[in-house]
Amino acid sequence: MHAAALRAAGIDARYEALDVLPAQLPAALAELRASGTAGNVTIPHKRAVMAACGWLGDDAAAAGAVNTFWWEDGALCGDNTDVAGFDRAARALLGQSVDRGQDIRVALLGAGGAAAAALLAVTRWPGASVRVWNRTPAYAEALAASHATAAFPARTIEDALDGATLVVNATSVGMDGVSLPVEVSRLPRGAAVLDLVYREGGTRWVRDARRAGHRASDGLAMLVEQGALAFERWFSMAPDRRAMWAALGREMPEGP
Ligand code: NAP
Repeated sequence: MHAAALRAAGIDARYEALDVLPAQLPAALAELRASGTAGNVTIPHKRAVMAACGWLGDDAAAAGAVNTFWWEDGALCGDNTDVAGFDRAARALLGQSVDRGQDIRVALLGAGGAAAAALLAVTRWPGASVRVWNRTPAYAEALAASHATAAFPARTIEDALDGATLVVNATSVGMDGVSLPVEVSRLPRGAAVLDLVYREGGTRWVRDARRAGHRASDGLAMLVEQGALAFERWFSMAPDRRAMWAALGREMPEGP
């Protein structure tokens, strides 16, 4: 996806994976600093890189995690583009209703990093409320407590789903292509379905949900949007999203 964006922009750079053990992070950052290399970070480095940053974007500070970094005058800068990436993906699914102060009731399944980014985005929508369910309830309680005016922990998955108008899968369930975060027959009628999981050929949950008449999309839109926003931080220009979608084997969806 990033290779395609770099090619389309005529930028002579490579996007490569670096496998870094936690104990090696300071040395890895020193090397990246010496070469001025920007990039993304993922589990388990999101918090440690945040702590090493001399400048933080508002979303990184609010989410407590960095997924995108770059260097300015030798100082490490970090931001979290998952928050806005989720927001854009959700808007593509829901349309502009998120800004109209409508009563959007979100069932958020999961309480890890992706759920934290989604929750932060949703709590900025006027009138939205969130019920957070997680396999390990203590994490759902802690996450909901971080946005106590709009988010509440759900004891059971049924409590989370009750009356939901948007159901978000922010667990890793479904990455295997077989398992479902929740059976589609248990979803409230008319609820929109946003799966943050992505895999080649799409996810089973999204396929099943569409077949049952739900508006549904998988995690590719969030993946592309968080990547596009990272590209903007690195190069101060918007990437060619169509090229990014094409690299992922899909046509870019039309706007809402
Ligand atoms: P994470 O921080 O490790 O959190 C994983 C979450 O999944 C936790 O809530 C965990 O519950 C839950 N979980 C794992 N196995 C489960 C199971 N068998 N049954 C029920 N719940 C289970 O990971 P993350 O970064 O939030 O990522 C979660 C998913 O979102 C991944 O599939 C990832 O690829 C996807 N994601 C997508 C994007 C995108 O751009 N589309 C961005 C970020 C992440 P416990 O707390 O009980 O362990």
